[in-house]
Amino acid sequence: MHKHHRALGLATTRIGNRVADIAKLRPVQPVTLVRPHAASRAARFFAEKFPGRSMYAVKANPSPDLIQILWESGITHFDVASIAEVRLVAGVAPEATLCFMHPVKAEEAIAEAYFEYGVRVFSLDSMEELDKIVRATKGATDLTLCVRLRVSSDHSKLSLASKFGVGPGESKDLLIAVRQVADALGICFHVGSQAMSPEAYANAMERARAAIVEAGVTVDVVDVGGGFPSSYPGMEPPPLERYFATIHRAFESLPISYSAELWAEPGRALCAEYSSLIVRVERRRGDELYINDGAYGALFDAAHIGWRFPVRLLREPDSNAKEMGFSFYGPTCDDMDRMAGPFELPADIQAGDYIEIGMLGAYGAAMRTGFNGFTAGDTVIVDDEPMVSLYTGEDEAAAATPSNVVKL
Ligand SMILES: *Cc1c(COP(=O)(O)O)cnc(C)c1O
Repeated sequence: MHKHHRALGLATTRIGNRVADIAKLRPVQPVTLVRPHAASRAARFFAEKFPGRSMYAVKANPSPDLIQILWESGITHFDVASIAEVRLVAGVAPEATLCFMHPVKAEEAIAEAYFEYGVRVFSLDSMEELDKIVRATKGATDLTLCVRLRVSSDHSKLSLASKFGVGPGESKDLLIAVRQVADALGICFHVGSQAMSPEAYANAMERARAAIVEAGVTVDVVDVGGGFPSSYPGMEPPPLERYFATIHRAFESLPISYSAELWAEPGRALCAEYSSLIVRVERRRGDELYINDGAYGALFDAAHIGWRFPVRLLREPDSNAKEMGFSFYGPTCDDMDRMAGPFELPADIQAGDYIEIGMLGAYGAAMRTGFNGFTAGDTVIVDDEPMVSLYTGEDEAAAATPSNVVKL
């Protein structure tokens, strides 16, 4: 990742870069700021406090640097969903354990994962997929197979309830069939992304209980999936410890073998704080700001699902103007390249100003395209704290309301 930094003349491996230093250079292209210390802190939090094993869901941000940081900070297992993700993680962290948790896989991908990369954990939600796994692994007897249950996404901002998972009443035969093939039998689910209440997991655990009781099978792994929230304007969740306590309590009360393992697959929560973006205002039209990144860049979720991210003005001199709500247009010629917000910024913001958009580490850079010739600019490591953090142990309200002006 250190090859793109020459344009700004920054020694990016240098410790001590700060957001203000980068904005002072008046970059023409958007700049991605990464905060290894924030990702490392999140990883250590999960490794120490989650009452089971935390594996990182790579799709949230497949940056090799991030994978390396998480690995070095205690995340030993990785949830991969494609053969390209298998190869990527194996290349960056060869000792890591990979779990192939996409319930619908290409047979060739299963075979390559099993025989070339030593993958032994797979998820599935149908008899067809079970047959496929058996064929692709030539009848392997050392598999951990996790049956994906369909659970409610009611408490989450992004549903994952319709595409995958066996519904109530459909899981019995599959669980019994998988039990006969698997060395270890798991149950997994996903409550939807950005789950705003621990209740989401308590309810899903009740679904798991019903499925286990109905099938009468011995279960060795319960995998509660992802969905652990981060903090965004208007979406400040309860502390993660409450999620962990709820999950632990529910897990302890399940009718499973006493040696059963509890797993989770956090994506967003491990990487949201890892990166942010500096953009330039190219034009102002009333309460609309034309900025140099957008829906086809790192702001996919801001455009397509109306996600709000924290923002702050980076400027000299300071601004005393009152805040007002702005919407953003991205740089492409497409009307859809619009982020409704509202994003609260000082009312005197104008063309030439720089804005930091925070909490883009999850599903931000990962979604970037090169549409219309607007590509990623530089990536720079900074030491500043992320605009919001769930992991600094500060007062919740204080952590959720960052100052929205940084004086350069
Ligand atoms: C996307 C995904 C995750 C990560 O979800 P987050 O909401 O980012 O934590 C975990 N597991 C599976 C199977 C996924 O599809």
